[in-house]
Amino acid sequence: MRFLKRTRRKAGAKDLIYARLEEAMERPECPICFLLSKAERGLIEEILYEHVQDPVVRKQLRSSLGLCPYHAWLLHDITLSRPEMDGLGVTIIYEDMLSTYLEALLSGEEQEAEAGNGPCIVCEHVREFEVGYVEAFAGRVVETGLLTTYDKSPAILCVRHYRAVRDALKRIGSGATEAMERLKAVQARKIESLIKLMKEYIRKQDYRVKEGVTADEARAWRVALQVLKGGRNSPSILSYKIPRSKKGILARFSRKVL
Ligand SMILES: [Zn+2]
Ligand SMILES: [Zn+2]
Repeated sequence: MRFLKRTRRKAGAKDLIYARLEEAMERPECPICFLLSKAERGLIEEILYEHVQDPVVRKQLRSSLGLCPYHAWLLHDITLSRPEMDGLGVTIIYEDMLSTYLEALLSGEEQEAEAGNGPCIVCEHVREFEVGYVEAFAGRVVETGLLTTYDKSPAILCVRHYRAVRDALKRIGSGATEAMERLKAVQARKIESLIKLMKEYIRKQDYRVKEGVTADEARAWRVALQVLKGGRNSPSILSYKIPRSKKGILARFSRKVL
């Protein structure tokens, strides 16, 4: 379960990662968020289909007592959505997880408290994929025509991944300065177009305007949400931490809600 091997390729040549990024750009969402969601599901399917009896994977699963809560429930949903899965694989895995926990429970308070504190194997791999795709995006923007493809596509990098790609370009150095400027210009143009669609939607709500709302205008707010916050199912959201300074404000909100 590793990110696509960094295969040798001629400068400027299109490769498998380029093809994946290009395909992901056919959708009006963040291509990196989309690829991460796909990778995340792929990793869980791999655990269920190929690694049920794998001792190395089992050891890692034991350390987290069977993935983090988010991924454990995603595994649950994937299992139930597959008619070919009879529950044997998950039963084998989670019987072992529960036995591991029971052993810790009976061993003492300290062992019990530490059980399941290890890292989630899917979270770890998703992070690796995220770094890989961000670097791949940046590299191919400099070396290939990926930026032109991005420019023409309906895709928009979310704020988080735009920043990550920009930082990766910064790390490349002076050779990437022009690409960085071009990426910024493309990103700004895409956001401007989105704002225009939203303004049109708002304008057309006036009863005096006879023009109908287009499908793109109607869903523009959903795209805006994706741009600002990342894709709905993007595992990247998991790493978002509430800034300390905002905790007071949040507490006030939750008091109202409660
Ligand atoms: Zn994203
Ligand atoms: Zn996880």
